[in-house]
Amino acid sequence: MGQLDEKLHPVYAEVLARNPGETEFHQSVHEVLDSLGPVVTKHPEYTDSAVIRRLCEPERQIIFRVPWVDDAGNVQINRGFRVEFNSALGPYKGGLRFHPSVYLGIVKFLGFEQIFKNSLTGMPIGGGKGGSDFDPKGRSAGEVMRFCQAFMTELYRHIGEYTDVPAGDIGVGGREVGYLFGQYKRITNRYESGVLTGKGLTWGGSQVRTEATGYGTVFFTQEVLRARGASFDGKRVVVSGSGNVATYAIEKVHQLGGTVVACSDSSGFVVDESGIDLALLKEVKEVRRGRLADYAELRGAGASHTERGRVWEVPCDIALPCATQNELEEQDAVVLARNGCTIVAEGANMPCTPEAVRALTEAGVTFAPGKAANAGGVATSALEMQQNASRDSWTFEHTEERLAEIMRGIHDRCLTTADEYGSPGSYVAGANIAGFIRVADAMLA
Ligand code: GLU
Repeated sequence: MGQLDEKLHPVYAEVLARNPGETEFHQSVHEVLDSLGPVVTKHPEYTDSAVIRRLCEPERQIIFRVPWVDDAGNVQINRGFRVEFNSALGPYKGGLRFHPSVYLGIVKFLGFEQIFKNSLTGMPIGGGKGGSDFDPKGRSAGEVMRFCQAFMTELYRHIGEYTDVPAGDIGVGGREVGYLFGQYKRITNRYESGVLTGKGLTWGGSQVRTEATGYGTVFFTQEVLRARGASFDGKRVVVSGSGNVATYAIEKVHQLGGTVVACSDSSGFVVDESGIDLALLKEVKEVRRGRLADYAELRGAGASHTERGRVWEVPCDIALPCATQNELEEQDAVVLARNGCTIVAEGANMPCTPEAVRALTEAGVTFAPGKAANAGGVATSALEMQQNASRDSWTFEHTEERLAEIMRGIHDRCLTTADEYGSPGSYVAGANIAGFIRVADAMLA
């Protein structure tokens, strides 16, 4: 990682000293501070008021025990987290991640990202994140339900439609939000739809919320293409992951005339030159909750599966990392650029390492950071909150049009801000600076 502006160096030193061992959190803070040099030069009030130092310390961090009983009758203990990072713009907003890698440093990095991402959407939502080290893999529906109920038995006292509004993230989809909402309703005796987003359509959910992160990433990429007079038509696209974000990114690329030739999961990747068969992918991943190897087997000739390996070795015009943090490394970036890739847009949160981002930028590949490119998920959550507040429900077409409009707005805000602060064309600078200014000004006010 490079040198920070001299006014920002002490801020980062303080974060390192106060949060030992939380490497992902350090990385996400450094990435934002790295863009803020020109901002503190132009506006001394941000350093004078210590607003950046304040931003780096969560308003509240909750860590709790989650005891539950597995199918064999054994008591299991997991750790639950909710980091309520910043409420200057609205109630804390951000997902819950259930994955064995979850610890405080991951939740803080995600919560920190969420502040700027949510700010960038222009909507009234603060930043937060939560989750657990619970591993849903291989667990029965009954076990997942009992875990969710135990998790909510503590979480309910910290959340509310005006306080903190969780949603899904890795390991938490519509099914889990249902178990969580049921337990919240049971404990509080309130039908408080706006307390969670990502709900089912019959009980307060929004059209397009399931698709929103993936669709939004592709809408953002479409704007990047449009800015250079191009489109998705005929483009080869590689997507990493095969969960919720990846699935709907693939769907939207295909609708816009591109072809997704490869996607991946933790066991390897699959190449399908005629385009990933979405119905089959959904059957394998969502219905059977199986592995991509099953996709290749069911698809027969035409698709090939590679155990482990790097999906980024498949040549493409556009790469959409949609799996998890730090999945795309420097060497992958070099290979992508060498094979002719011209755009990398992050569907996941911080999937590219800082070294990869530098390598892409040096090679002239346009890089769209997650806090801009994947903001469609949380933006549609804010639309769900709007519908809940007005006891309304919108059509798919209307909601998708709103999402597309929001992504266009974010894209344009990134470019104008980057221009204004002397980094024309940099989506990184634009996203970090525009996200920062809105939240910082609200804090100062
Ligand atoms: N987990 C998603 C994200 O990373 C969405 C959060 C939400 O909808 O609150 O932005």
